[in-house]
Amino acid sequence: MSDESKPSTRIVRCPCCGKSARYDQTNPARPFCSQRCKTMDVAAWAEESYRIPAKESSPGEYETDERD
Ligand SMILES: [Zn+2]
Repeated sequence: MSDESKPSTRIVRCPCCGKSARYDQTNPARPFCSQRCKTMDVAAWAEESYRIPAKESSPGEYETDERD
């Protein structure tokens, strides 16, 4: 039996800014430190996914023979 009755707040590092963030129900933006960081990260992720098709780095390393 572990003592889970103890209301210990888990602290994680915000993936966006690296600050300490609460990982519990009081933090709706978890694992981010704030809603702002969460929004920013999602925006960055979306932007990143847009760039993926336009990949033009190191030709030959990622060769695909199925081109039209
Ligand atoms: Zn943050």
